[in-house]
Amino acid sequence: MRKCAYCLKRSKCPYKKGKKHFCSKEHKTLYYENDIKTLKKQIQIEFNKMITENQPCAYCGKRFVKMDCSHILSRGSCDHLRFDYLNVLPLCSRHHEFFLASVSA
Ligand SMILES: [Zn+2]
Ligand SMILES: [Zn+2]
Repeated sequence: MRKCAYCLKRSKCPYKKGKKHFCSKEHKTLYYENDIKTLKKQIQIEFNKMITENQPCAYCGKRFVKMDCSHILSRGSCDHLRFDYLNVLPLCSRHHEFFLASVSA
């Protein structure tokens, strides 16, 4: 018997993801809908949209249909800056790669 990660009831949990178990598919969905990681991801998508929408690439100044949102200080090392608009640059995919290569070198 396992504990459902959502309702915390002990029951048969046929659904699992990683180490988490869920008694039903609904509880699995509900759990991840309210999961901080999921919320962060959704906010990040909106945030990135806001940063890159109608913005030219910070390197080449050209506008592209698909723009990347590049974090100056990576989300991994500076998680608190992930939604700081001073920490992001709109970049075209070519210069995003260029940028990533230059910061990791
Ligand atoms: Zn449950
Ligand atoms: Zn560019």
